Amino acid sequence: MTVPKSHPRYISLKTRDLIVDGVKKGITSEHGLIAHGRGEAFDYLIGEKTNKFAVEAIEAAAALLLLAKRPVVSVNGNAAALVPKELVKLSKIIPAKLEVNIFHSSKMRERKIKNHLIKKGAKEVLLPNTEYLKKIDHNRRFANKDGIANSDVVFVPLEDGDRCEALRNNGKKVITVDLNPLSRTAKSANVTIIDNISRAISLLIKKINHYKKYNGRILKNKIKKYDNKKILNDALERIKMSEFS
Ligand code: ATP
Repeated sequence: MTVPKSHPRYISLKTRDLIVDGVKKGITSEHGLIAHGRGEAFDYLIGEKTNKFAVEAIEAAAALLLLAKRPVVSVNGNAAALVPKELVKLSKIIPAKLEVNIFHSSKMRERKIKNHLIKKGAKEVLLPNTEYLKKIDHNRRFANKDGIANSDVVFVPLEDGDRCEALRNNGKKVITVDLNPLSRTAKSANVTIIDNISRAISLLIKKINHYKKYNGRILKNKIKKYDNKKILNDALERIKMSEFS
């Protein structure tokens, strides 16, 4: 669809095009369209901008990823459609492994996401290959034994609540990006970036590059001061403030 740049919903419509293209290419599931719609609704309510609560979470996420020993960036079909280049860049600068993990089971879609990331510059992309997470009864119990299964910190944007909880129960530190502060994922992650991944990921990359000059003590201190519950509450306050103007 051709959308004039002057259209007030230009960015939102272009982002929809990316998700629709993702479905056409076979990297995003049809259910991903619905998840995107839920995200859009919350984006509206937070003013379609990166708020202070997101910046604070991005700072904690940057510190956590730099301090991690075996960090992994987990990629699903929506994230791969929206920000593939940025996910590859993020994995390179940390550095972290890239692993595909999708909710609706499909070996073919996993391979398509992997090839899509390779086209965007990734050298290696892991696929789930071992039954790893316990007490979770669908495709997401699988993980790669050299990736998520053996990781200490996982960056999992747009994750579902069960898997986020399962990752936590398996001792992982979880960073997510989720526009809905009320989702189970948002509530169970260690760090919840309440922002659109299309906006947040570039800021996260910038912050990591900036924090590379800091020593471990400074980074640890940033994590110590971080309070995810406060961040969720700040986001809810922002939503409550939405009113007619
Ligand atoms: P949960 O299982 O965590 O309670 P859910 O069932 O709503 O939540 P899913 O449908 O699995 O979760 O995932 C969609 C989530 O991703 C939603 O919370 C939605 O707000 C969020 N989301 C969708 N698109 C984006 C986006 N572009 N950026 C950030 N978050 C998004």
